[in-house]
Amino acid sequence: MSTYDFDLFVIGGGSGGVRAARMAAQRGARVALAETLGQDGLGGTCVNVGCIPKKLYSYAAHYADAAHEAQGYGWEGDMPILNWGTLKANRATEISRLNGVYGNLLRGSGVTVFDGFARLQGDHSVGLATLNADGSPGHQNFTAKNVLIATGGTPHVPHFAGREHVITSNEIFDLEPFPKRLLVVGGGYIACEFASIFNGLGSRVTQLYRGEQVLRGFDDEVRHFVAAEMIKSGVDLRLNADVVDIRKTDEGLRVELEGGSVVLADAVLYATGRKPNVQGLGLDTVGVVQGAQGEVIVSETYQTNVPGIYAVGDVTNRVQLTPVALGEAMVVVDQLFGAAAGKPTREMSYEFIPTAVFTHPNIGTVGYSEAQAREKYGQIAVFRSEFKALKHTLSGSSERTLMKLIVDTASDRVVGLHMVGAEAGEIVQGFAVAMKAGATKAIFDSTIGIHPTAAEEFVTMREPTRN
Ligand code: FAD
Ligand code: NDP
Repeated sequence: MSTYDFDLFVIGGGSGGVRAARMAAQRGARVALAETLGQDGLGGTCVNVGCIPKKLYSYAAHYADAAHEAQGYGWEGDMPILNWGTLKANRATEISRLNGVYGNLLRGSGVTVFDGFARLQGDHSVGLATLNADGSPGHQNFTAKNVLIATGGTPHVPHFAGREHVITSNEIFDLEPFPKRLLVVGGGYIACEFASIFNGLGSRVTQLYRGEQVLRGFDDEVRHFVAAEMIKSGVDLRLNADVVDIRKTDEGLRVELEGGSVVLADAVLYATGRKPNVQGLGLDTVGVVQGAQGEVIVSETYQTNVPGIYAVGDVTNRVQLTPVALGEAMVVVDQLFGAAAGKPTREMSYEFIPTAVFTHPNIGTVGYSEAQAREKYGQIAVFRSEFKALKHTLSGSSERTLMKLIVDTASDRVVGLHMVGAEAGEIVQGFAVAMKAGATKAIFDSTIGIHPTAAEEFVTMREPTRN
């Protein structure tokens, strides 16, 4: 019998933490999980202020397009108006339901769930700051054979005059009143998604990005294509632009840009990256090595330099995606408590991670961009198709779709697959399986298409656009 209180103490009840705690408990381990936000915070960023509410708002925004487009299909009548209060309330109800589901899953698996802020305080020792029933601060100490840090990240806003007037993605979901004029700063996932979403919901959106083109790191053609589509749909996207200062005036927030121009806005969303949640965690007390952004440095098996302390997810500041945090958590659980009965020990690969950006239209992508593939493989063939989706022949929408395949000439393997278009995330997920399995262009060519779909284009592109 172990002398520790727990076999595993998980700090953080987000994507990685909940998965690790639940799976470890199902393997018979004695597991505790602490979440600062308490039961209402279970699910972490993704459930409370990330993937889920964002996707719900993205669906909401798509209804505006759908209502316009329906007219081309013979639907008549007044355009519906958005009730922002109803959207917010319905979202909040669904998120509370999910918080409850996570709590039930954890407790049902036998995990002891604590409401409170956990910190590392010594050899196999975790302290928990809690609130007593009368509201006074309380403290508990626990010992654990292993500790998993899964504390995620938090929005980072740079310093400038007027910083106190801006909001981040944490606040945008409950903004009151609805921002008729929204300024978005940043050119990454969050900035582009919220620029699209609020544009769709009816805000007049200006987006500022400091560089040449948004979504650095994505395929260049995809970046230019999606930027053009966003501009076409109404986003005032300004490149090579940045904020000098923000002042509150009677006309709204007065944002002065470099070069002297001014934008007036009801709200300013800063989406300029996220930093790891490590403050007060006691990493220095126990000697866990951190990187330049404060991130926890881990080995290939998610072990920190301190034996028995592991870390997964956004706190390691690598690939910040929920399915990645889940995958990493599974590797830790298999390593510590053995694989699930009849299953091989899980491994995590960072090659061919599919991802979607829920801009309007969506980006779906897996594998290498054209530039990355050229650098890695040398000889490549690029297959490209751009078209108006069948739906828009009657809808009146001028939205276009881009599809692109990158093939390593030597092996014929498809090493990059990119799409900008409706439901790109849904479409690319399936192709990601084929790519993971090493599908060649010959296999794509021999696959029968599903007609009439946009996705069939991926198996019917015959002639390379360039070699
Ligand atoms: P988190 O989910 O952030 O969980 C960490 C938890 O730890 C939090 O609940 C926090 O309260 C708790 N905590 C922190 N410190 C302590 C402590 N000391 N003691 C106790 N508890 C603590 N990813 C996708 O794959 N798809 C998407 O569409 C997507 N959309 C996103 C949209 C937005 C606006 C944002 C911000 C992120 C989005 N992401 C998306 C990224 C995704 O949410 C994260 O990658 C994922 O949540 C990381 O999981 P995690 O377990 O590392 O951390
Ligand atoms: P990103 O790192 O994706 O983007 C940050 C953006 O802010 C970049 O355009 C960056 O520019 C810019 N920026 C950084 N610092 C400054 C500054 N000081 N002034 C002006 N601009 C600045 O971060 P996000 O916050 O958008 O999202 C964090 C992560 O969350 C994402 O990387 C992603 O992993 C995850 N996420 C995933 C989603 C999904 O799966 N659909 C959706 C939302 C988030 P530059 O490129 O020049 O550095």
